Amino acid sequence: MPARPYIVGNWKMNGTRAMLSEARSIDRAAARYPGVQVALAPPFTLVHAMTEEVQAIGVGGQDCHAETKGAHTGDISAVMLADCGASFVITGHSERRRDHGESSDMVKAKAEAALAAGLGVIVCVGETLDERESGKAEAIVGGQVDASLPAPEIFADAAQGKISVAYEPVWAIGTGRVAEVADVIAMHQAIRSRLEAAYGEQGATVRILYGGSVNAENGTALLAAEGVGGALVGGASLTADSFVAIIAAAGTDQVI
Ligand code: PEP
Repeated sequence: MPARPYIVGNWKMNGTRAMLSEARSIDRAAARYPGVQVALAPPFTLVHAMTEEVQAIGVGGQDCHAETKGAHTGDISAVMLADCGASFVITGHSERRRDHGESSDMVKAKAEAALAAGLGVIVCVGETLDERESGKAEAIVGGQVDASLPAPEIFADAAQGKISVAYEPVWAIGTGRVAEVADVIAMHQAIRSRLEAAYGEQGATVRILYGGSVNAENGTALLAAEGVGGALVGGASLTADSFVAIIAAAGTDQVI
């Protein structure tokens, strides 16, 4: 059975408790689209509170440390996320790679820690504008996939559907500039090939999401593109109005 499209909102460093009302509205709307898997990744400070407010959607973290505990001031482990009710975590977002110097080796260790804690994981990859314009996008993203995803023996032990990849061209994040559908299809095919090379036929079970300025207007075409298993959404996930429109673009089976 094909996996449901996966629509994930990344709230980044946005949101205080007042914004839980948006999460409640998103949750109510998501319940009307059972054919779409919906999740939100709020800041750590809202993860537990949000899990108490929602039923139909998953709640996850935006990052985790690779260790389970210890002397890492300011960090949060995957075990801690699971303990406060999270069901998944995003690793390797380009803003983490850029702002915190995260290498693909670190991203891989975090992804493996997430699986060990029983969380799902969304591993982000994507090229910069320079890399795309110099014709290196597939090589760069392919290298990130090879180096950032969990080792085959860990992948084999993870439950099906626990691992997703988000292809997010860095130049499309938060810029309003969205990748061409043909380029998205080509990159998703390239990522799929790398996954199958690494994991054999199990590589076909990994959902590959697109991320980068997805909104209600461009969502329908992007989500219908071959190989696109969902979307990782930043800015447009901050309000129920804009995020629910993207959920609706992914689902045809609305229950009234
Ligand atoms: C993101 O933060 O992962 C993202 C895709 O952001 P935006 O949708 O705002 O481009």
